[in-house]
Amino acid sequence: MAMLEVKNLEVYYGMIQAIKGISFEVNQGEVIALIGANGAGKTTILHTVSGLMNSKAGSIIFEGKDITKVPGHKIVSLGMAHVPEGRRVFSELSVYENLKLGAFTREDKQEIQDTLQMVYKRFPRLEERKKQTAGTLSGGEQQMLAMGRALMSHPKIILMDEPSMGLSPLYVSEIFNIIKEISSSGTTVLLVEQNAKKALGIANRAYVLETGKIVLEGNAEELLKDDSVKKAYLGE
Ligand code: ATP
Repeated sequence: MAMLEVKNLEVYYGMIQAIKGISFEVNQGEVIALIGANGAGKTTILHTVSGLMNSKAGSIIFEGKDITKVPGHKIVSLGMAHVPEGRRVFSELSVYENLKLGAFTREDKQEIQDTLQMVYKRFPRLEERKKQTAGTLSGGEQQMLAMGRALMSHPKIILMDEPSMGLSPLYVSEIFNIIKEISSSGTTVLLVEQNAKKALGIANRAYVLETGKIVLEGNAEELLKDDSVKKAYLGE
């Protein structure tokens, strides 16, 4: 059984249908990439899976449980964390306070403390800057903070929306290395990216979206060699 199973999903903004019957699955331990041009529907899918938006039709099954109508904060407690597009850190709060907020569904203080140490180990720069307000961090550091905050909920699966957006090439490589590490440490990853080359470089499998539909899916390595993918998404 897949860890996450999305079936025939349809999502609307008013009268406009953004997602037109999409199905995909994510298995435990995989890194799955959703790639596609601006406006293809990637962000809408992540919002719907993590309970921030409602679907009109279809179902979302997480670890065998139907979460189609479960609200976002409950989905976090089930073990799914979302790193939103544009990071959305609380810029007035310190790095430490932002991280603590990520643990809002947890109660055991010792466990929260242990996870915090794990996050600091993965992102030494966050520990160095733990007292600094988040708004004063660079874009790459804010992305790390958004990822660290998601890890504070101790998720089984992490949904990441455009983590490389607006970052310098050096930071992009660093962020992708960190995603690989998060995956190696046992967290399943669903990754939305416009940087298809980088995303396919770390993914096991990928789905290619066009205007609310999946037009291609497969093994990431094979998609990297696919002529239509090369032409449309890899700039080759
Ligand atoms: P991006 O990388 O720009 O976020 P995306 O692939 O994530 O693109 P979505 O943001 O999910 O795409 O948008 C999918 C479709 O839904 C687009 O046609 C977009 O114009 C439309 N859409 C998105 N947000 C809204 C909204 N708030 N109101 C109306 N239409 C919207």
